[in-house]
Amino acid sequence: MDHKKYPSELRFDIVSKNWVVIATGRARRPDAFQEEGGVLPISKEECPFEDLPFENKSAIAVPNKYPAFFPFTSPTTKLVGPYQVMDGVGFHEVLVTKDHVRDVGDFSVEETKELIDLYQERYFAFMKEEFINYIAIFKNKGQRAGATVAHPHSQVIATPVMNPDIQRSLAGSKEYYDTNKKCAHCVMLEWELRDKSRIVFEDDCFVALCPFASTVAFEIRLYPKAHLSNFEKATENEKMCFAQALAVSMKKIKKALNDPDYNYFLHTSPVDGESYAHYHWHLEILPKTSTLAGFELSTGILISTIEPEKAAEFLRKC
Ligand SMILES: [Zn+2]
Ligand SMILES: [Zn+2]
Repeated sequence: MDHKKYPSELRFDIVSKNWVVIATGRARRPDAFQEEGGVLPISKEECPFEDLPFENKSAIAVPNKYPAFFPFTSPTTKLVGPYQVMDGVGFHEVLVTKDHVRDVGDFSVEETKELIDLYQERYFAFMKEEFINYIAIFKNKGQRAGATVAHPHSQVIATPVMNPDIQRSLAGSKEYYDTNKKCAHCVMLEWELRDKSRIVFEDDCFVALCPFASTVAFEIRLYPKAHLSNFEKATENEKMCFAQALAVSMKKIKKALNDPDYNYFLHTSPVDGESYAHYHWHLEILPKTSTLAGFELSTGILISTIEPEKAAEFLRKC
């Protein structure tokens, strides 16, 4: 296939080892960036998700109108001088919930479970593809969190590449496991469930906590209590507990921070055929309480402006 037909390409930074997506198919005039900004379209009339065929479902998947990745055949890689370039192949879908305003923080446990069911269904669909190695499921709410549509929605991007952030997390988990013969997340959970100061919520098989080394104020992580490496293998009962923990956490964040913009995302084992038995899947919720500035961007050291213990205490009371 003619390389030029791909509307996006992945470029590899040989120093940081990061892959970046250059969305060539959406090329804009360089001066068009000045015209960006303004508020998200919030009226139902302007909303691109109002006419979707929900039928009796509360959440459905649709292809992203402006995908960063495109579902073609397996990617070809080429060298350009010292650089590596790969076709931007993959899948990019939007998972839209029915109501224009109601978000996960307003959902019942059942509605939240239906959204999680859809996450799992799409995950299964993409993991079957030979060239897909990592599946990212995430949700951006509000302009500060990167959302371009106000109507509540999540996204799934399935790609052939894994960035160092993911690899570092997997490698750290593996190194701890190899040294201690225990899962690092399980060790943390055991300590946290005894200590209780950073626990926000727990149910039969899930726990929501503010991490000891929180990266932003009011960060919450949700973990299955049992050592489970793959989100897609979650049982009905595990998904129900997950839904309860997610619905409660999002309600608490909405109340505590007055309906903030936020990102949340799943971290789970890649689907590249390797074994990740040392890994422990989880969901991270990052309320948009600050903006990354020079220090954070230059060093990767993040500054959280409240003690996680105080954030957890506040969230428990909400
Ligand atoms: Zn809408
Ligand atoms: Zn574990």
